[in-house]
Amino acid sequence: MLKLAVFDFDSTLMDGETIDFFAEELGIGEEVAKITEEAMSGRLDFFESLQQRVGLLKGLDFSVVERISHNLPYMPGAKETITELKNRGMKVVCFSGGFRTATSYAKDILGYHADFSNALHVKEGKLTGLVGGDMMYNFSKGDMLTRLQAVLGVSEEETLVCGDGANDLSMFAHAGTRIAFRARDILKREANIIIEEKDLSLILKEI
Ligand SMILES: [Mg+2]
Repeated sequence: MLKLAVFDFDSTLMDGETIDFFAEELGIGEEVAKITEEAMSGRLDFFESLQQRVGLLKGLDFSVVERISHNLPYMPGAKETITELKNRGMKVVCFSGGFRTATSYAKDILGYHADFSNALHVKEGKLTGLVGGDMMYNFSKGDMLTRLQAVLGVSEEETLVCGDGANDLSMFAHAGTRIAFRARDILKREANIIIEEKDLSLILKEI
């Protein structure tokens, strides 16, 4: 029986990449989106890609970051899927290589129990280009998942993970139910459920 579900945020619970939306404000959307794509396809180390992309955001007003973070388009089916998994008695958690401004705000809207992501460093109301947090490395999601499993007393077989990109690979290594949602090939190869339609609630028919 499944007891724990972990969802990625960008392009999984949310329809897009948060950092790409920030970059568009600065007119560097294409440049940042290109780096995001390289990272999500597994051609670029996640930590390096995160540093590069956040560095390019230096000077962006934090009020803009908050406005964008609070107006993101959530994935069709995200809220009803989380509600149903919670009704089934599962703990539902979000692991994101993105940012607390987005994942903590969405927690109360989508209904997951907790979020683990990164924090943008802010000084005098502007981004400094620095970043820190829980989800900075290729290994971060797998590392956090094994710690959560230990605390909750949940086995790999009782764990569901769902994501779309290369930085979800490390958590796929520690879960019995592995859902690739509109995912890159590198992640699909490690999945046992593949969903290509833009509707997260299709998960409910598979588990
Ligand atoms: Mg993603």
